[in-house]
Amino acid sequence: MELFKSMDNLDNKEDSKKTDIKETEKVKCLIIGSGPAGYTAAIYAARANLKPVLYEGLQPGGQLTTTTEVENYPGYPEGVTGPVLMEDLKKQAERFGTDIRWGIATSTDLSNRPHKITIDNKKIIETETVIIATGASAKYLGLDAEKKYAGMGVSACATCDGFFYKGKDVAVVGGGDTAAEEAIYLAGLCNKVYVIVRKNYMRASKTMLARVEKTPNIEVLYEHNTKDLFGKDGVEGANLIKKMGTPEEEEVKINIHGFFLAIGHHPNSDIFADYLDRDDVGYIKTIPGTSKTNIPGVFACGDVQDPHYRQAITAAGSGCVAALDAERFLSSL
Ligand code: NDP
Repeated sequence: MELFKSMDNLDNKEDSKKTDIKETEKVKCLIIGSGPAGYTAAIYAARANLKPVLYEGLQPGGQLTTTTEVENYPGYPEGVTGPVLMEDLKKQAERFGTDIRWGIATSTDLSNRPHKITIDNKKIIETETVIIATGASAKYLGLDAEKKYAGMGVSACATCDGFFYKGKDVAVVGGGDTAAEEAIYLAGLCNKVYVIVRKNYMRASKTMLARVEKTPNIEVLYEHNTKDLFGKDGVEGANLIKKMGTPEEEEVKINIHGFFLAIGHHPNSDIFADYLDRDDVGYIKTIPGTSKTNIPGVFACGDVQDPHYRQAITAAGSGCVAALDAERFLSSL
């Protein structure tokens, strides 16, 4: 292994005292994140002999580990569960020698090369290239019922899970473009789609709104908030509050089997904020058609840089791009 360990090789001993840093390690290619983007980057980087080290992050396997059946990932004609798909990707990355480790990147210093990434506030990885594949986390309302019915009616991805609600009644929460898009997608599969919007308007674009309005099996419930979900072995309905906090406030019950959150995603990019260009929401900006960020040697792939598609297969594709960009960067040094 071309890894160099040193107990005393710290640039700043004062900082190390503060953060309890005990160790540094030099690598050529560090991958942060273990979703489809991170593992695909690892497969390509390992095969290109970059000897990648991959830290799995807070949610090993990424968002797909919280879904049940995945039927739109090419190569699995019968479908595959999210956890099995991620385990397969992990094994493939390990087969070519990726060093996969538990741990979370807790801070960064991208001011000079080698870039320094601190893991678990304890250890600094000094790396020639960084591939950021930290993903994005769907936002939830914060109801206990969302946890109770996770994978049993509650989902944050209509494209992933909508198929399981074919012919049934479902609801989408949110008033943005994602909510509109997911409602339209679900309307093609489901009997009826409620859109639960907390304001008296949707902030989605005019085009999307027009499509929502002309879809006969979508009903928009303006000025409604979700109070709770109910059901025995899965979601069977939701209790909503109409015109909350006004004299006309009333409780409304809807019978649904699927409850889809579309209230936005939060890209996991905060630790890079001091160095990388990001958009207003926090998605890392990359040079179109590449995975290159504004800092040479730092690449981003998957959902952390993709507000539009957010699919496992697009994340995997962008992970491949990041590994190829890293390899080319290293050979140009
Ligand atoms: P947005 O931030 O645009 O919308 C989030 C929606 O969720 C808002 O309507 C917001 O309500 C609502 N919301 C937030 N928190 C809560 C809550 N606690 N309870 C109830 N409702 C809540 O996120 P999107 O994911 O829709 O879009 C993100 C970006 O991606 C946007 O720029 C969008 O245009 C873009 N996009 C474009 C698409 C396209 O062009 N086809 C498709 C999908 C996304 P409120 O309005 O009251 O704040």
